[in-house]
Amino acid sequence: MSPVEPERHPAAVPALRELAITIVHDNNPCVDSLKTAWGFSAFVTGPEKTILFDTGSDGALLLENMAKLQIDPGRVDLVVLSHLHGDHTGGVTGLLRENPRVQVFLPGSLPTRFKTAVQGHGATVVEVGEPREICRNVYTTGLLGRRIKEQALILRTERGLVVLTGCAHPGIVRILKEARRQHAESILLVIGGFHLEWMTKGRVGSILAAFQDSGIRYAAPTHCSGDKARQLFRQSYGPGYVDAGVGKTITLAELTV
Ligand SMILES: [Zn+2]
Ligand SMILES: [Zn+2]
Repeated sequence: MSPVEPERHPAAVPALRELAITIVHDNNPCVDSLKTAWGFSAFVTGPEKTILFDTGSDGALLLENMAKLQIDPGRVDLVVLSHLHGDHTGGVTGLLRENPRVQVFLPGSLPTRFKTAVQGHGATVVEVGEPREICRNVYTTGLLGRRIKEQALILRTERGLVVLTGCAHPGIVRILKEARRQHAESILLVIGGFHLEWMTKGRVGSILAAFQDSGIRYAAPTHCSGDKARQLFRQSYGPGYVDAGVGKTITLAELTV
């Protein structure tokens, strides 16, 4: 394991006591009245700022799902885009048309035309490179990966770290190792795309073993995780498996294993 960096959080900053994550765009179903489409987006409340992590592929569908969940797009303070791919960034225009008063934390590696388009809607662009704080108790891993640069979101709760991943192109195990290296705290929950859809059963098994060796208590694989890997996680994790899909809400209070 990588050496752990010194404690970064002064005792004066208490970790989050409340957190709710609702999946608002996903290719896996959960709540029947909502539409599915390839991509991922999650609405996060609890931190001082309300966050939309990724925007899915389809802005109209994103807004329709949010409306059915009674989530007002005007509540979003910050948008975090994990990586360039359209199934994570495609909905951003739809969101910004409804609410341009947001900061958009995006990979600095994104094309200038993308950043200019975001600014053109009136939003503020914050280019991410290195790991950094986004708001109190919310961090980005910074850009990971060589070919496809991607950031994951880390939320620091009083029960451990919650990690949100987009497509996990840099490798889910690598992302989690990096989260622990940066924060020296255990991981409570990992949620999002784990990018296991195309992997063999053996390879998924070794990733599962890495999850369990590192003491991750809850896993919510969705989006590009694939049915086979979701099934394997369900079998191994038992009550620690969260059946994620569009409309699913996970709160800190529910994570009691
Ligand atoms: Zn991708
Ligand atoms: Zn994806």
